[in-house]
Amino acid sequence: MAAHRHTGMRGIATVPSYVVMQPTTLCNLDCAYCYLPMRAADRRMPVSVAEAVAASVNPWAAAGRFSVVWHGGEPLAAGREHLAALLAPFGPEVEHHIQTNATLIDDAWCEFFAKHRIRVSVSVDGPRERNAERVTRGGRPAYDRILAGVAALRRHGLPFSALAVVSRPVPGLAAELYEYFLDLGCDVLGVNIEETEGVNTRGNAHDAAAVTAFWAELVAAWRRDPRIHVREVEWSLRYAGAVLDGTADDLLPRRLDPIPTVGHDGSVIVLSPELAGFTDPRYGDFSSGNVLATPLAEILTEAGRTPWVREFLVGVEACRSSCPYFGFCGGGHAANRYFEQGRFDGTETEHCRNSKIRLLEGVLEHARDHQSPAA
Ligand code: SF4
Repeated sequence: MAAHRHTGMRGIATVPSYVVMQPTTLCNLDCAYCYLPMRAADRRMPVSVAEAVAASVNPWAAAGRFSVVWHGGEPLAAGREHLAALLAPFGPEVEHHIQTNATLIDDAWCEFFAKHRIRVSVSVDGPRERNAERVTRGGRPAYDRILAGVAALRRHGLPFSALAVVSRPVPGLAAELYEYFLDLGCDVLGVNIEETEGVNTRGNAHDAAAVTAFWAELVAAWRRDPRIHVREVEWSLRYAGAVLDGTADDLLPRRLDPIPTVGHDGSVIVLSPELAGFTDPRYGDFSSGNVLATPLAEILTEAGRTPWVREFLVGVEACRSSCPYFGFCGGGHAANRYFEQGRFDGTETEHCRNSKIRLLEGVLEHARDHQSPAA
C-alpha cells in the first residue's frame, strides 16, 4: 500500500457536494472546547446572502444530490422565522441538514424540521458526566436541555444523527459511549477526538496506544451490536476492504471537495469552516470571495488560487509522497494544520494522528485480536 499509488485529491473541484451556511455567529452555549471566535455575538446572515448562494446551489441540486448544512454558532439561535426566510430561496431538490446543540429544540422546532424536511445532527458527548465541558453562558450544565431536545425529536419520530467530542480517550470510554448512543436513539454516530482549533488552544496530544485502543474498543462495541452507523468505523472498514480487493485508489475523490463555508456576511472559506472569522498577517481573512459580489460558482472556479489554498495543496502533495495513510486520509484538514503548525504546507498533525492514523491502526488491532485461529 505505497503512498505514491494514490492518484486522487489532485487540485480542487469546482463543484462541491455540499455547502455549509452560518445563519448566525451566536451560540447560546459556551462549551469549553469550542473553536468559534464570535459565538457571543448575534451576527445574522441576511436573506440576500442565502439568495446569492441558492442561485448557484439550485442548478447543482437539479443535476445531482446536493446538501446545505446549517451550522453556526447555534443555527437554531437565528430563530424559526429567520431560518425559514434563509431556506426559502433554495429549490425542492436541495437537502437540508442542521448541526445543533439541541437545547432549543421543542415541538415547534420539530414541526419546522418536518415541514422543511431538515435532517438533524445533535452534538452530545455521551452520558451526563461526559458533558461537563458543555455549559450555558451562565456556566450551568447544558445536559438536561440537550436531552429535552432529543426527547422532542423522538416524540416526533424524527431520525437524527449524533456527534460526540472525546477530550481524553481512556479505557472503557468507547464501549460506554457506544451503549449510550444505542439508547439515545440516533441512527448515525460520529466521534471526534477534540481538536486544537480556532480559539480552543488546549493541547490534543495523547498517548498513541491509548488512542489506538479507544478506536479498537469502539469497533468491538459496534460489532457486538451494529444497529447504528458509526461514521469513523464505516470509513475505515470501507478503506480496509478496498485495500484487500485492490480498489483503494478509487475511494478518494479525483479532486478535493471545496466544501465552501458561507459566513454570515457572505464571505466564502473553502475546505475548512473553522477558519471563518479569523485573520492572519500572511493569509488575510482566508476568504476566497463574497457571494454578495461574485457568484459562488465563480468563486469556486478561482478558489485554488487563494494564497493559503495554494500552500495547502503543496502540503497535500507532501502527504501523498510521505504518508502511508494518504489513501485513507487524502491529505488532511487545512484548519488542523494551520492551528497546530501555523501554516498549511506541513504534513502530520496531532489531529491526523488521533483521527486518521490511530483510527486505522485501531481497526487493524481489533482485526488482529479477533482473527479466527484458522486464518
Ligand atoms: S494528514 Fe496525516 S494521515 Fe493524512 S496523509 Fe497527511 S500525514 Fe498522512
